[in-house]
Amino acid sequence: MKIHEYQGKEILKRYGVQVPRSIACHTVDEAVSAAETLGGPVWVVKAQIHAGGRGKGGGVKVAKSVEDVRTRASEILGMQLVTHQTGPQGQKVRRLLIEEGADIRHEYYVGLVIDRGCQRPVMMASSEGGMDIEEVAEHTPEKIFKAEINPTVGLTDEQADDLSHKIGIPDASVARARVALQGLYKAFWETDSALAEINPLILAGSGDIIALDAKLNFDSNALFRHPEI
Ligand code: ADP
Ligand code: MG
Repeated sequence: MKIHEYQGKEILKRYGVQVPRSIACHTVDEAVSAAETLGGPVWVVKAQIHAGGRGKGGGVKVAKSVEDVRTRASEILGMQLVTHQTGPQGQKVRRLLIEEGADIRHEYYVGLVIDRGCQRPVMMASSEGGMDIEEVAEHTPEKIFKAEINPTVGLTDEQADDLSHKIGIPDASVARARVALQGLYKAFWETDSALAEINPLILAGSGDIIALDAKLNFDSNALFRHPEI
């Protein structure tokens, strides 16, 4: 089962992962008052559909004034958004996320799946965030680093810090990245996720490590264990 980005971020936040302030909404007027509530100077208007690649498809737009939020929200809401993950018919945008604009210094990728080969959860991390990780895997696989996780122990401090160093997170932010990576792992494990991905996980100008996107897919057979989901 898939959920929207804003729902994924709510879950990650509960696990201690830092996310930008944001408000989900259904109408253009709600988008405008969300922007006013959040305050400026920069907002991002984000289509909520069950597919990635929204940025390239025109479903993620930066706005620099409340009027700009109104314009972008009216463009995106109701559109048939086509991305490389939706198929040619696209998906209709019924919901938006209005989010504070982040001060991005670098975009990283981090994701988790169960690896049938090693029969363990595997965390993948890369310095090449924000783009299609499938393309990175195909053309520059050496830029993806992996950690096999023993589920009785979890993602250890050493594993988290090792991945952070390999993908080039500055020393001053490694402790904050540890919180994000361990939070992501715990969210993945405890919710019976089949896939958990933050792309991009960013280094902000403040040195904070923030999840700008969130994708959680759940094992539908395990949903009975998670009434809250
Ligand atoms: P998708 O993966 O569906 O394209 P993302 O949420 O990853 O959607 O957004 C695409 C890109 O838009 C990100 O890689 C990032 O560069 C930018 N972006 C997304 N959210 C924000 C934000 N809150 N502040 C600044 N830039 C953002
Ligand atoms: Mg993304």
